[in-house]
Amino acid sequence: MHGKKPLSGGPTVFLPLLRRDACNLCTKTSNDAKLRICSACGEVSYCSTECQRQDWVSHKIRCGKTDKVDGEAFFPYLAFLAHALRLHSVPDTHHALSHAILNNPDKREPLVVLSNGLVAKLIVLGEKIPSSKSAQWWPTATCQLDQEILRSRIFNEGLGLPLALSICIGLAAQMYTTTAVPTGEVPAYQVTGRRRVRLAFLGSPISDFGVVRGSLTVPNQTRLVYYSTEQKKFIMGQDPKEHYRIYFTNLNGQEFLLDFGMRVYDFWNEVADPSPYNKYFRDKNHGAFPFYIAQRGDSCLLDNLLYEPHKRVSVLRDPKIHTLIHESDSLEKLADTSRIYSIMDEIAGYPVSPDDKTLATNFSFVVASLMRETMKDGEYNNFPLSYPVASPYKSTIPQEKEVEFHQYMKRLSKRLRKGKVSPEQWVADFQEAYKSL
Ligand SMILES: [Zn+2]
Ligand SMILES: [Zn+2]
Repeated sequence: MHGKKPLSGGPTVFLPLLRRDACNLCTKTSNDAKLRICSACGEVSYCSTECQRQDWVSHKIRCGKTDKVDGEAFFPYLAFLAHALRLHSVPDTHHALSHAILNNPDKREPLVVLSNGLVAKLIVLGEKIPSSKSAQWWPTATCQLDQEILRSRIFNEGLGLPLALSICIGLAAQMYTTTAVPTGEVPAYQVTGRRRVRLAFLGSPISDFGVVRGSLTVPNQTRLVYYSTEQKKFIMGQDPKEHYRIYFTNLNGQEFLLDFGMRVYDFWNEVADPSPYNKYFRDKNHGAFPFYIAQRGDSCLLDNLLYEPHKRVSVLRDPKIHTLIHESDSLEKLADTSRIYSIMDEIAGYPVSPDDKTLATNFSFVVASLMRETMKDGEYNNFPLSYPVASPYKSTIPQEKEVEFHQYMKRLSKRLRKGKVSPEQWVADFQEAYKSL
């Protein structure tokens, strides 16, 4: 429209402290002194109040106040974005949502063992139907609730990488391009005026975030596999060995994993009320949305036993993403999508499909636009610090199986306490038993 824009001078990513490395003045390291961060900006650290006082003359120009957004309030918003992207951008293209279900994949239906050894719940699909909302979709379902649950599980399959990546890119492009702008300087490219906005969690500034690829141990009962009678072939459901999450680390060295992709495995942790987050889609009823956050490193937490991260790629600190944001004018237009493609291949460990790449690119643009509005209006101040969490659906695992599992775990834990089984073996046995629930 306006001819070619210069490809430089766009928004710059301002990185937060990665760790308390060295005093901003005397460069003493954390080995020599206990370093404290500047409480106003959280972006520099000092060994002493003396150093902080001396450095103030130069630091005050860039220090400024920071809006510290608590992850407790903000992380559900990110999960909401993932949910909204699914609802708004993905048509009913899943084979199992556009074809009739011929069998009865409920609790009692036996699991199948495929030739590759995979044990899963089989869904047999027949002819094409207009919509999964119609009665033709799953005519033998015992009740409407069962239908809703299965539909939601299938609907939530896939897209883990495009969703996680685009949310990280949008966050970097809109929140981490803000900084405290000194009086007299024009705040170019930042939507928050002169304010710096940063995330914090459990009282400590977020130092990094990005995408994790890992594998999840799930009960076989919750794995889905489809057989298309039209195409006479099996279609694999989502693979728990390729499960994406967003990681956040804070300056205290704690790590958290944000997950919005576990509903497909019958895991129903969700935020019950989307209304604080959907200011920009008031016309739509989004319903409850999947949200789950786990802390890493605590071996007592079940999630640490069930989710094993294999690859972690920082989005906040990736120079390719910085260039993309800098060249794209805050992602209002995407200058060079190849940067998104290459980071996707890097995270996945193989060449990602062109469809997923296109989705990730489109999602990044949408997330960036929504995030921009959220930043501009200071909407992040209105997200609630506590929210009703719901898990309204009953597990599809038969109750007698659960009882059996708990008895087995009791015996296994007794053996662990007596030293008859090593902790490693205990974890392996636990995972095996959990899978075969
Ligand atoms: Zn010092
Ligand atoms: Zn400061």
